[in-house]
Amino acid sequence: MLSSPTQTDAVIIGAGPVGLFQVFELGLLEIKAHVIDSLPKAGGQCIELYPDKPIYDIPAIPVCTGRELTQNLLKQIAPFGAEFHLGQEVTQLEQQADGRFLIATSKDEHFLSKTVFIAAGVGAFQPRTLNLEGIEAFEGKQLFYHIKHPEQFHGKRIVICGGGDAALDWALYFVDKAASVTLIHRRDDFKAAPASIAKMRELCANQQMQLLIGQITGYEIEDERIRNVVVRNIDGADQTIAADDLLIFFGLSPKLGPISDWGLDIDRKQITVDTEKFQTNIPGIYAVGDINVYPGKKKLILSGFHEAALAAFAAAAYLNPEKPIQLQYTTTSPKLHRVLGVNPATFE
Ligand SMILES: Cc1cc2nc3c(=O)[nH]c(=O)nc-3n(C[C@H](O)[C@H](O)[C@H](O)COP(=O)(O)OP(=O)(O)OC[C@H]3O[C@@H](n4cnc5c(N)ncnc54)[C@H](O)[C@@H]3O)c2cc1C
Repeated sequence: MLSSPTQTDAVIIGAGPVGLFQVFELGLLEIKAHVIDSLPKAGGQCIELYPDKPIYDIPAIPVCTGRELTQNLLKQIAPFGAEFHLGQEVTQLEQQADGRFLIATSKDEHFLSKTVFIAAGVGAFQPRTLNLEGIEAFEGKQLFYHIKHPEQFHGKRIVICGGGDAALDWALYFVDKAASVTLIHRRDDFKAAPASIAKMRELCANQQMQLLIGQITGYEIEDERIRNVVVRNIDGADQTIAADDLLIFFGLSPKLGPISDWGLDIDRKQITVDTEKFQTNIPGIYAVGDINVYPGKKKLILSGFHEAALAAFAAAAYLNPEKPIQLQYTTTSPKLHRVLGVNPATFE
């Protein structure tokens, strides 16, 4: 049965840098937002793809990392009390007879919102999966792409696939907790913290864990459970490894996914908008950041911030057509000081 939906003025789909700044621009206009993201944390591409790399083209910030940009945006939007619903993908968006939008997520949360801001970047980040026929039937039973309860793997023979930080961190974590740990990576070259790589090699040398260079090409089932996996190593030889659980960390890839089913005008996987309001073909739905397209579009954080400002003004007019909106400066407006919860007299 449909749980009673959360009623709100604005839902933002995507907690990347542009979705976060959308909270700020809406907040200044006293519009409270709910933010939904398929990732378990805010920051979008900045946090998922380049948390420690420097960005040099954010106005007035000579340099900051993807993580710092995210942290500063979260600090900047804190006064507005946006509610975050993370780790869930928006799967449905449907306009109701009263004009509001019913939004449903993969965790079965529902929202009834007067406006929607799609800040979905290049799409929802999803784990890259292990491509073996029929293996998906074991997902959540013996095949895992996320670890929620590490203790369930204690005492098990676990096989971990991947060559990044997630694969190595979990391999090191389970070494003295699992019955055995086998790490499988397609080449002997890891994209992880040097200290983790060194530790992994030391543990392998001490035979506390095993490293195989190759790929899983098959699996054997007995009594409806995976018992073994077949690993083809780089010289083409097959090896069978006993496995209770498979933990796969092949990274994340973005998928436009359900957005293409919501009746929006889409041009080559991007949502078309006007450049006055950044509104889509459906009034009340705006698209900002990397997900949108218009003549001259540049996929930069800077462009997304501008789009968020104009979309917020447009939404305020859409929500209250009778109420004229005046442009006010955060420097001098007592009203904006109130909504920001600041006192410029005591600013140093
Ligand atoms: C390596 C690299 C370096 C870069 N360097 C720079 C730079 O120096 N300067 C610059 O300006 N730009 C840079 N960019 C580009 C910049 O990161 C993007 O322009 C920016 O992240 C776009 O922000 P966004 O909020 O629109 O989308 P994203 O950051 O992509 O965030 C979108 C979010 O929406 C979520 N989402 C999507 N669909 C759904 C759904 N259905 N349900 C729930 N959640 C959903 C995703 O999980 C994601 O978290 C760089 C990009 C990369 C990859």
